[in-house]
Amino acid sequence: MEINSTHKRNQKWLLPILVVTLLTLFSWSCQSAKESADERKRLVKHVILIGSDGLGAYAFEKAKVPNMRKMMEGGAYSLEARAVLPSSSAVNWASMIMGSGPELHGYTEWGSKTPELPSKVIGPEGIYPSIFSLIDKQLPDEKMGAIYTWGGIGYLFEKPLVDIDHHGKSDEETTQTAIDFITTQKPAFTFIHFDQPDGAGHGIGHDTPEYYEAVEMIDGLVGRVLEALEENGMMDDTVIILSSDHGGVDKGHGGKSLLEVEIPWIIYGHGIPHIGSAQRSIVTYDTGATIAYLLGLETPQVWTGRPVLEIINANLNDKD
Ligand SMILES: [Zn+2]
Repeated sequence: MEINSTHKRNQKWLLPILVVTLLTLFSWSCQSAKESADERKRLVKHVILIGSDGLGAYAFEKAKVPNMRKMMEGGAYSLEARAVLPSSSAVNWASMIMGSGPELHGYTEWGSKTPELPSKVIGPEGIYPSIFSLIDKQLPDEKMGAIYTWGGIGYLFEKPLVDIDHHGKSDEETTQTAIDFITTQKPAFTFIHFDQPDGAGHGIGHDTPEYYEAVEMIDGLVGRVLEALEENGMMDDTVIILSSDHGGVDKGHGGKSLLEVEIPWIIYGHGIPHIGSAQRSIVTYDTGATIAYLLGLETPQVWTGRPVLEIINANLNDKD
């Protein structure tokens, strides 16, 4: 009896000790999981964002775009990604590289050069923080640049922070300048903006033979970028995202139809699984967040974009 009751007393103590031990272990494991989530790992050396102005997702039905198709089939894509409203240029390019919508960055129009709505936050360079300011702060030794055929891009990022800020005279010249910069400087991030097929859309009309001709010309330039990366042995360390600011209908855009709002979003390169069409909802401000995630950057609290984790997760770490 005596032995039994001692045994019972011991058991009475055992349970709380066990619970406390388990709770402690659990909280440690939560803490380390949280720490590893906070410490963003850089997944790739180079990210290239290619933006083709006015390239509606609808164009993929008729246009012959072998290089973009190669990226789509070898990587992942959505042809139902969305622009923010209005479906105009500056507001959408700003959203793409500022990881947020117009209600926060404040650039709301086709040709916004300064925010019409005061930006919610002002970064160190005097404008709403774009991906360039994140790289400058968190990867200070890395190179980055913007090469663009439409001058309106020049108002939407922190010019003093970049290693190249080039307004190309044509998409052709933009391509060559970008290739030279990428292959010689090996930058962490390059933003390449093409002005077509927007020009053909406004001049001749969307969904016309001339429009598709312009789309196909851009596809050829995309092919040259891919080729240069391959020739210089950079493809194994690079992820390319290709997207647009808006589509269009007749000779314009800015409205609320899907032809204007739906844009392509293609991701291809190092560690990106070959999953083809992605079901996830993507808005243009998710692009900035995805670039940040790939480069291991923390994003400002004010950014609302979310990285497209369903596509870029898992495989990247195993495929070094
Ligand atoms: Zn545009």
